[in-house]
Amino acid sequence: MKINLNPNPTPASDADREAKIAAGGFGKYYTDNMVIAEWSEATGWADAELKAYGPLSLDPATSVLHYGQEIFEGMKAYTQPDGGISLFRPEANAQRFNSSAVRMALPEIPVKDFVAAVEALVKQDRAWVPKNIGESLYIRPFMIATEVGLGVRPSNHATFLIITTPASAYFNPNKAVTVWISTEYVRAAPGGTGAAKTGGNYAGSLLAQKQAAAEGCDQVVWLDATERRWVEEMGGMNLYFVKGSGDSATIFTPKLTGTLLPGITRDSILSVAADLGYKVEEGMISVDDWRDGVASGEIAEIFACGTAAVVSPIGAAKSAAGTWVTGNGEPGPITHKIRETLLGIQHGTIEDKHGWNVRVG
Ligand SMILES: *Cc1c(COP(=O)(O)O)cnc(C)c1O
Repeated sequence: MKINLNPNPTPASDADREAKIAAGGFGKYYTDNMVIAEWSEATGWADAELKAYGPLSLDPATSVLHYGQEIFEGMKAYTQPDGGISLFRPEANAQRFNSSAVRMALPEIPVKDFVAAVEALVKQDRAWVPKNIGESLYIRPFMIATEVGLGVRPSNHATFLIITTPASAYFNPNKAVTVWISTEYVRAAPGGTGAAKTGGNYAGSLLAQKQAAAEGCDQVVWLDATERRWVEEMGGMNLYFVKGSGDSATIFTPKLTGTLLPGITRDSILSVAADLGYKVEEGMISVDDWRDGVASGEIAEIFACGTAAVVSPIGAAKSAAGTWVTGNGEPGPITHKIRETLLGIQHGTIEDKHGWNVRVG
């Protein structure tokens, strides 16, 4: 896939851009450019174009608007100590994008083309990458079904896009979030789309998120669909439980059963925690294990992880069965250590032993 460069002839002024970066938040302002590429069943992928960020014009009968056939990714570009920029494990995002594409009957994109398109856009809009640790340029690749027609079938036309937005810290890392454990609603069921990054999973989660807010909680924790007993994820993030403390702690995460989204942050933390000398385990944890573990003190810390927020400590958990507080409800030391290590690797201040960072310039 060739990328034709046709950048925005009237980019934001320095003052405008700096003000938008300084405003912080997440997803409020977008950079000067975007990437777009079209696919058709008959001819495959056409060349991509890098051009001015702007609205799409879609026929009202475009299939994504009706049947939700779409996928997305979330990844980041980080400023390095020498002023350069790097991406974190972009091939992993490309591979997951393709797994999502297969599940949602959308076309795959060669990994090298996906990564090259991301690199081209970040290079073009490099002035938008925030400079401080904990800040980054959030990159949102996505693909939508663009066949026009209301017939229910895999679309014979698809559009791939990449947009980017400067991001500051998503959650305050020094404040533990409270979670609502939903037994009424489920995010994903066996055989469903839980392992794909697709908008429908999010659309179906919003009512539970509303319920969590009504219960005074920040986020929803999802249980398995069958027994409503096994802990899966939190909102759009994976979960970790710290059992024990100090150097003998075990860092535990729910295993990927096919209904969980395989997070790249989750996967990276498995390595980072082992590098730091902790024992690492993937398995099943029930709601009862959670309740009993925090009551006995065996579970000393809990955190969620994902690209947007990196690592986010969890304090109280509330459910129909009661409220349980982890430790003293404050972020714990191991959560902090893992967060600082991962951020350090991403920002180039801690050695990148695994070769995860890809320089863009
Ligand atoms: C994207 C996502 C995650 C986190 O994945 P990362 O690759 O770490 O950003 C976890 N759960 C869900 C449901 C997600 O959509």
